[in-house]
Amino acid sequence: MEKRRLYMDYSATTPVKKEVLDEMMPYLTDYFGNASSFHLFGRETKTALDKARKQIASLVNADPNEIFFTNGGTESDNWALQGAAFARKNKGNHIITSKIEHHAILHTCEYLEKVHGFEVTYLDVDADGIVDIEQLKREIKDTTILVSIMYANNEIGTIQPIKEITEIAHEHGALMHTDAVQAAGNIPVDVKELGVDLMSMSGHKIYGPKGIGSLYMKKGVRIQNLIHGGAQERRKRAGTENIPAIVGYGKAAEIAKGNMESHISELTRLRNKLIDGVLERIPHTRLNGHRTNRLPGNANFSFEFIEGEGILLLLDQLGIAASSGSACTSGSLDPSHVLMSIGLTHEWAHGSLRLTVGDFTTDDDIDYILENLPGVIERLRSFSPLYQTYLKEQKNK
Ligand code: PLP
Repeated sequence: MEKRRLYMDYSATTPVKKEVLDEMMPYLTDYFGNASSFHLFGRETKTALDKARKQIASLVNADPNEIFFTNGGTESDNWALQGAAFARKNKGNHIITSKIEHHAILHTCEYLEKVHGFEVTYLDVDADGIVDIEQLKREIKDTTILVSIMYANNEIGTIQPIKEITEIAHEHGALMHTDAVQAAGNIPVDVKELGVDLMSMSGHKIYGPKGIGSLYMKKGVRIQNLIHGGAQERRKRAGTENIPAIVGYGKAAEIAKGNMESHISELTRLRNKLIDGVLERIPHTRLNGHRTNRLPGNANFSFEFIEGEGILLLLDQLGIAASSGSACTSGSLDPSHVLMSIGLTHEWAHGSLRLTVGDFTTDDDIDYILENLPGVIERLRSFSPLYQTYLKEQKNK
């Protein structure tokens, strides 16, 4: 029997949809011109570039002139933070972010602190992962030049009240950036409604190719350039445009916009089936993140008495591709900064598992997980000294 290949890691990346690939292909062969060239070949790709910019803008209700292509979410985050910090350093040196941001934000903040002397406040979050608004109000000051809070968390899926946070930032004259890499294309995002100044997006989270993304920059907002060179992207982001990837990203955005309602309802249904099934079948389990105010495809669990890495290994043997919340796989034994920030103990944080569903997930996939996961957890617990101690304690009660 052929081994099952079940992908449950759509928050890490998504496959390129067939319609997206079809749109990209001619731009690798027939239409290969440099979009800056004057001749016909250049004009062909320039037209494709303009079309994709409109498709991305339309997904988030921006003006096409407010969209700048980058090589992905990480570059967009770096550009927003460094660009805003360096452009506004005469006004102040204070930046506010949260403790649960992606490392593209956290490590850029550390760099701005250590190398350039900026002061960064990292806001706490509550047990569901929602940013502490009262703390934001207390910490924001005249020298605050930028607030950067992610729209939806990549580990636990929690969605932040970005509009409210933006209003507070603006009342104090600070720019507002949101990392919408996990949100845009997955849930409705409207930059006008939110009022944000800067917003990061990425192609490979929405069934587009990898290595392409964008930064939304509200009309009138000025930040410094990050990448220097030619005059591309209206002199703001140098480098010959990756037209096939941009065309694919544009098409993916168009599809995401058209399918938004059915995408949300179907993913939410599958995710709820998974969450309910896991909590029902496996004792000593908790769901991390807000029960309902979360990304439609995200489920994140912690299983008491065991380690996330063991779960991943056994699931991998069953053909199930999942992700753990902890950073152990990357060589560090530290548990996830997100799970620690929502108040989990080291033990609970180490036993975490993220399962994210997407457009190609089926009921049969969820059933397969619900059939197999309880056995995996049971097996790992049978080797766990912590679990054996717990059982003995229960017996002696
Ligand atoms: N921000 C968030 C919230 C993410 O989830 C990711 C990717 O996992 C990134 C930024 C980085 O995006 P990219 O992989 O396009 O560089």
